[in-house]
Amino acid sequence: MKILLRFDDIAENMNWRLMDKCEELFDFYNIKPVMGVIPNNQDETLKSFPQKQNFWKIIKNWQSKGWEISMHGYNHLYTQDTNYKDYFKYGGKSEFFGETLFNQTDKIKKGLEIFKKNEIRIRSFFAPNHTYDNNTLLALKNCGINEIIDGYGLKPFTKEKIKFIPQLFFKFFFLPFGLQTTQIHLNEMNDKDFENFKILIEKKHKNIVKYDEAINLLSDKKIDKFLNRLVFYLLFSKRKIKFF
Ligand SMILES: [Zn+2]
Repeated sequence: MKILLRFDDIAENMNWRLMDKCEELFDFYNIKPVMGVIPNNQDETLKSFPQKQNFWKIIKNWQSKGWEISMHGYNHLYTQDTNYKDYFKYGGKSEFFGETLFNQTDKIKKGLEIFKKNEIRIRSFFAPNHTYDNNTLLALKNCGINEIIDGYGLKPFTKEKIKFIPQLFFKFFFLPFGLQTTQIHLNEMNDKDFENFKILIEKKHKNIVKYDEAINLLSDKKIDKFLNRLVFYLLFSKRKIKFF
């Protein structure tokens, strides 16, 4: 079993107190997480957290340490409700779903420009609230992004000429096989949650892989595609009731 640590909602305003503790922990165990950075955060909930002045310098430093910087949407503002018509049929609100291809491409382009200006390389993306439509995939490809950290499965797979690195569970729940991507929201964690996270890292750190190692597990073999589909059918109903 291999684990990829994916952090959501990395922005200038966030729970930096816990973030600093995480960084210490990761340096100690030589862990390289995936950090989902919002390039132009406008989300008021996140804005209520303290702001970091040298934010982009920190992100650059993370990248130089081998952490993977991923693009997590553009402004983190939801404009549409998907009514379960989104690409993964998760339902819920979306920053991208339902927007025109032009608007979606524009958002992704503007986001990438911010990363470029701050000398951050981006090759992957994951949307706020896991919600995409076919135009999101096209817009990403138009902008040169061919890797998405989302979707059902036990191993990364290729679909629509995009590499998907699956992300299954909302909670820290690990199957004894395959690749599991976590979804960590530091801004929703308290000190007790952090202590539990620390215990989990201490126990599982040998199973935690870098982004490149996760991508290298990609398989488009028939058996793996079958297993990925099976996972979809097994978890689909549970996702709807937000059990995981
Ligand atoms: Zn988010």
